[in-house]
Amino acid sequence: MTSLPTVLITGASSGIGATYAERFARRGHNLVLVARDLARMQALAARLQQDAGVKVDVLQADLTQAADLARVEARLRDDDQIGILINNAGMAQSGSFVHQSADAIDQLIALNATAPTRLAAAVAPRFVRSGGGAIVNIGSVVGFAPEFGMSIYGASKAFVLFLSQGLNLELAPSGVYVQAVLPAATRTEIWERAGIDIDTLAESMEVGELVDAALAGFDRRELVTIPPLHVAGRWDSLESARLGLMSDIRQAHAAERYRPHA
Ligand code: NAP
Repeated sequence: MTSLPTVLITGASSGIGATYAERFARRGHNLVLVARDLARMQALAARLQQDAGVKVDVLQADLTQAADLARVEARLRDDDQIGILINNAGMAQSGSFVHQSADAIDQLIALNATAPTRLAAAVAPRFVRSGGGAIVNIGSVVGFAPEFGMSIYGASKAFVLFLSQGLNLELAPSGVYVQAVLPAATRTEIWERAGIDIDTLAESMEVGELVDAALAGFDRRELVTIPPLHVAGRWDSLESARLGLMSDIRQAHAAERYRPHA
């Protein structure tokens, strides 16, 4: 019997991460839960062990802290039972750009961009050597939408999408699956943590529906899964527009419109 890979999930103490934990446990995967709130993760671990009969380890870590991030990296490098990484931990932005402190900016970029990159980099060489494994990065549709007025958060999520697309090109030939999941507003604590009342939004998705859709994309080995996007062709059009733009980049000379005219 081949055993299922263990899944390491960051931000597993609540919301999307806790729901991934529940769904993967139901599928029979052992888990490693990572977040700051130890008591919450222990309670979730006890429940999942009891209900699903899987083994659940808890790794308390603040992913914005160098020593904690290094411990999670080491676990990913050394534990060859771990075959799936869910890079989910993240925070939203409170307030507009002119209201950000240097600390708040550092914190958001450390958690939303640096941590997933470092964790993917820690595990990728082992996955490549084994010719398998999966890296799932939770982005956001805000990464497409500067109009939403969350510039730093959106930029971090655009980074996550680009990183996923790049990793897919680099790692897929070695058998490693990479998925970017891009939710829109989903009913979790992230809103309250950022001081936003989710009930002021016209619409939001329940977290179970979001994660089930993300897992449908995972099972299909989709590179980009956007659960709230109802017209799939929109993504294909964006990709062809991007490739079209690239085909018109000619680096030897500036475009005619930028050349000095006599
Ligand atoms: P959430 O309920 O607030 O969950 C965030 C998770 O990240 C928690 O488990 C939290 O646990 C953990 N976390 C926060 N700061 C951390 C830190 N410094 N170190 C380690 N873990 C930390 O929000 P969520 O909606 O499920 O968010 C999950 C992901 O989905 C995020 O990347 C978010 O950007 C993305 N997303 C959410 C929405 C939405 O509308 N909900 C939409 C698009 C994308 P602790 O507090 O215990 O550390």
